[in-house]
Amino acid sequence: MTSIFIKNALIVTPKQDQIKIYEPGYIEIDGDKISGIGSGSASMSADLVIDAAGGIVLPGLIDSHIHTPESLLRGLAQDVPEKDWMHKTLGPIIRNMTESDWIIGAKLCVLEALKSGTTTFCDYAYNMDKILEEVHKPSGVRANVCTTINEFGEGKRNSEELYEFDSSAGEKKFKDGVKLVKDWHGKLDGRITCLYGPQAADMMSSELLLKVKEKAIEDGVSIHMHVAQGNRERKQMEGRYGKSTIEYLKSIDFIDSNLIAVHCHDASDEELQVLARSGGRMVGCPGSIGLIDGVVPPLHSFIQAGGVASLGSDQGPPDGSNMFTQMRYAAILNKVRHRDPTVLKAEEIFKMVTIDAARCHGLDKTIGSIEVGKKADLIILRPEVPNLTPILSGTVKNIIPNLVYNATGNEVSDIIINGQVIMQDRVVKTMNEKQIVAEAQKTAEQLMANSYMDLKEVNSPFLD
Ligand SMILES: [Zn+2]
Repeated sequence: MTSIFIKNALIVTPKQDQIKIYEPGYIEIDGDKISGIGSGSASMSADLVIDAAGGIVLPGLIDSHIHTPESLLRGLAQDVPEKDWMHKTLGPIIRNMTESDWIIGAKLCVLEALKSGTTTFCDYAYNMDKILEEVHKPSGVRANVCTTINEFGEGKRNSEELYEFDSSAGEKKFKDGVKLVKDWHGKLDGRITCLYGPQAADMMSSELLLKVKEKAIEDGVSIHMHVAQGNRERKQMEGRYGKSTIEYLKSIDFIDSNLIAVHCHDASDEELQVLARSGGRMVGCPGSIGLIDGVVPPLHSFIQAGGVASLGSDQGPPDGSNMFTQMRYAAILNKVRHRDPTVLKAEEIFKMVTIDAARCHGLDKTIGSIEVGKKADLIILRPEVPNLTPILSGTVKNIIPNLVYNATGNEVSDIIINGQVIMQDRVVKTMNEKQIVAEAQKTAEQLMANSYMDLKEVNSPFLD
């Protein structure tokens, strides 16, 4: 018997590069997969029948780049010059984070993102094995993760000077990456997938970077990496190699279709073309990069160059983990960047958190749209709220622009991931919301007390 049957829904999903609307429509779920979808008011017996009348069903949203543990540092990394951003804000606090702080930060972030419709987390952090075990596995979310690889030792760094590399620290982090892929890739019925996460071209030697590339090819997984992420990186790259990041990566033959390049706001249009033509994919994080760097990720330019782009929330600090917010930022900021309201239309933006995000991460055979044979990752929104009214889906349609420009994420009522009901009537069944919020508050207070001297040393703007 069908496990879940959703009826009377207004279904909105990408289908062969178009957006398809079923109204009313129905969805059948068998186990972890979608076994039927169609128009009409069909009825069927199932273990669980969800009457979605008045609701909108979308594919689960994909956050293509997120650092879940750092949500504990919310509100503590903005309004400072870009050169001070890591050095005076996050750095002194992250240095004091314990493994358990890392976990509670990840739980808080996943809870926030889930409640606004994110079902797939392309998570990027140290201690990823523990985060998988203690957060992604029990919460029931889909995760496509990597552990951070760089060649940094324990010492403090100043972005004004060339970073010192520590090859033994780099080797250890590389081995952690290899172990993560070996232990977790494809696990939990395919709910967990892994990639390699070299942090950035300025944070490791060419030898280590190429070693990661070779291992990723051997393991058949992609590389998720920050690329051309602004002045701090440019200064390092020019100082060490006399090249921009893209010039350097091209010169060592690193750029190919296995690369998922995050940010790219310091790449020229010609460099974006190099990336796009080689089959590289791009993730833009408009909220975070707007706040940290005061610039706009070049999403439209990359798509114009023929590339596939998607969106990430990046870090809880400075911005929240909510893909509805990111969709809005991506659209408006790119229109402003190009002084052209026609760039990045709502349909394109919607695909950047669904099917194009899945393409970016090589998961488009599995997720990113509601289609027979794909995994059952769905969200249901209740749009009968002032900010989404009216919903028009007849001959005059406003539904996609309305979702992209007006939804807050609080309208998401129910979530199904891998055929399991994870949230029902805004209650996350797999996480204890009250406990996580209280624990995060307490943990953050202690962490700030522990970080006080380090923040004082760098004259942090967040001290009294
Ligand atoms: Zn990042």
